[in-house]
Amino acid sequence: MPNFTIAIVGAGLSGLIFALSLQKFAPDVEFVIYEAVSELSEIGAGIGLAPRAWSIIQAIGLEKALFKVAGDGGKPCIPHTHRKSDQAEGVVIDHTVRDEMNYSFFRAELQKVLLEHLLPKNKVRLNKRLESYVQLPQSLGLELLFEDGSTAMCDVLLGCDGIRSRVRAMMYSRLADDAQAEGKTDEAEQLRSHITPVFSGEVVYRCLIRKDTLPEGVAEHEAFDTSDLVIHIVTYPISQGRILNVGAGVSYPGREGTIYDGPWTSAATRDEIVKDFAGWEPDYVHGGLKWVINVVTKLPTYVHGRVGLVGDAAHAMGHHLGAGAGQSFEDGFFLASLMSHRDITKEDLSTLSLADEDNCII
Ligand SMILES: Cc1cc2nc3c(=O)[nH]c(=O)nc-3n(C[C@H](O)[C@H](O)[C@H](O)COP(=O)(O)OP(=O)(O)OC[C@H]3O[C@@H](n4cnc5c(N)ncnc54)[C@H](O)[C@@H]3O)c2cc1C
Repeated sequence: MPNFTIAIVGAGLSGLIFALSLQKFAPDVEFVIYEAVSELSEIGAGIGLAPRAWSIIQAIGLEKALFKVAGDGGKPCIPHTHRKSDQAEGVVIDHTVRDEMNYSFFRAELQKVLLEHLLPKNKVRLNKRLESYVQLPQSLGLELLFEDGSTAMCDVLLGCDGIRSRVRAMMYSRLADDAQAEGKTDEAEQLRSHITPVFSGEVVYRCLIRKDTLPEGVAEHEAFDTSDLVIHIVTYPISQGRILNVGAGVSYPGREGTIYDGPWTSAATRDEIVKDFAGWEPDYVHGGLKWVINVVTKLPTYVHGRVGLVGDAAHAMGHHLGAGAGQSFEDGFFLASLMSHRDITKEDLSTLSLADEDNCII
């Protein structure tokens, strides 16, 4: 019978799926979710879930609840229309159909459903920004230190705190200190390099367009009926077709892998977007948010002692893969399944390192 407690830092998609998987498969394992913000507001835009991620939603029993908010957004195939639009009059150059299910969501609606399915005893503790942690001798577990000066104890700490992960920063500065203490200066420097995410070389303008706000003629745009991938512009409908998710990407290949020195998100005007797409075929253009896409370099380990990393904290990746959230679902689901094993106890918490040795992303 499990007799340990887990601290989940971060109530994003990865933290919530891990928590819901624990509720389902390891109901005896106690966990607490600590979230930095004071309110989980409606953030983010559209998000697509591929078949493997969707199978996890089914396994934890949330399929029906998600259909209620998103509609049966699944399509028996993914139609992608590739349109050459960097000219005054665009042309369709390819139409691809992949034979698999795909589901698109408004991220805020997805997160809301996940939150609603947490049991009352497992509700998120808001306003708890993790500042640091101390690994005590084995039987005593870990002490967590929060920005507000409070502390808490746990046996396992899971960093689900996103691309700028504080847990990853702490873990990798300690790994680097250990290497430095052994005189391995190059290795220490390499380990420290994983703390700061690097620029993917791409920014993306994102916006959500409500169908009922569009002028006559535009509201019937084909993008509301299907998923169109148009070189650097990706659109797909969410919220049962009421909203169009738009992402318009601009690449700077020479800057890939550098440190982006500036805000990662900022407001973008319509004029700014039009300037970047000068010469493209005319279409309905909206202002939006400019997102700088950063990524986490491949980590040599996701575990240190009783501390692990999942989701973007472990492997934030380029947005065109459309798989960061899906991968984080797999992390949490797999780890929760391991933790439900009757042989896993407080005294023998080898699960984390086992997952890492198998080269699985925990
Ligand atoms: C433009 C774009 C499009 C994308 N499209 C897709 C897609 O179609 N499909 C897909 O699968 N993925 C997609 N992704 C990737 C996906 O959004 C991420 O992989 C996923 O949201 C990561 O979830 P997370 O829970 O790991 O991190 P986050 O969502 O960042 O959550 C981290 C949470 O931790 C909290 N936190 C941070 N620091 C602390 C702290 N010190 N203490 C306590 N709490 C803390 C934060 O407030 C936040 O709530 C896309 C990404 C981008 C940028």
